[in-house]
Amino acid sequence: MSSERGLITVISGPSGTGKGTLISGLMGIDSDMHYSVSATTREIRRGETEGVSYYFKTRREFEKLIKNGEVLEWDEFCGNLYGTLKSELQSRVDNGSDVILDITVKGALAIKEAFPDDSITVFLLPPSIKDLEDRIRGRKRETEEQLRDRLAEAEKEIAWVKKFDYVLISDSITEAPKRLKGIIDAERQRVRRNPDILKRMGLEVPDNAPKDA
Ligand code: ADP
Ligand code: 5GP
Repeated sequence: MSSERGLITVISGPSGTGKGTLISGLMGIDSDMHYSVSATTREIRRGETEGVSYYFKTRREFEKLIKNGEVLEWDEFCGNLYGTLKSELQSRVDNGSDVILDITVKGALAIKEAFPDDSITVFLLPPSIKDLEDRIRGRKRETEEQLRDRLAEAEKEIAWVKKFDYVLISDSITEAPKRLKGIIDAERQRVRRNPDILKRMGLEVPDNAPKDA
């Protein structure tokens, strides 16, 4: 096992703000990044694929995963359960692979607490609430009632931005992924994340270097 651990990048922000679009853009310019596929009880949508978009579960199956300790964090969002699977995250990070997550604010803060040295949290804000509403409407995925639910949830979520490490505005589909990549590249170069480089030079490894699991 490498002594260099993977970096967990957690993306949160209101539904419709552009998290999925941002992550696709990042994966296009960062071939070292792995996406953590979550489990959910939400119904599969047209265009989604089992095991790629989500692992689609019944509520009973989801509760069993929690009971068996296979879920690192979970949250309820607009009536459905969503959770990060241990199998998507733990071994990759232990083996030095970088992983990106698209999860709720509560989930982001739980991952930060569980992996304080290995994770960074990034909040993606829409340019304005009006833009957010236009984007949700524009993708024609939600009913009018679901749109209202998601906007109400958005107002609550935005208040948590102060707890995050970084904030990004999803203004440009091409520029926002580049800004995110800049954050991730800088984090990868932190002295404490590169104990192998220091060891090769015969230098002391800082006390706050992430420890091997
Ligand atoms: P989320 O994953 O946060 O729910 P999506 O990535 O599905 O959001 O984006 C919601 C809608 O907004 C989509 O129709 C997408 O094409 C559009 N969108 C995403 N990012 C931008 C952007 N930077 N500028 C304009 N439209 C965007
Ligand atoms: P959607 O239904 O639009 O795919 O996702 C709804 C919300 O669930 C989004 O805010 C998304 O970030 C969040 N979500 C997706 N997977 C997870 C997860 O594993 N854990 C948590 N806490 N939230 C998730």
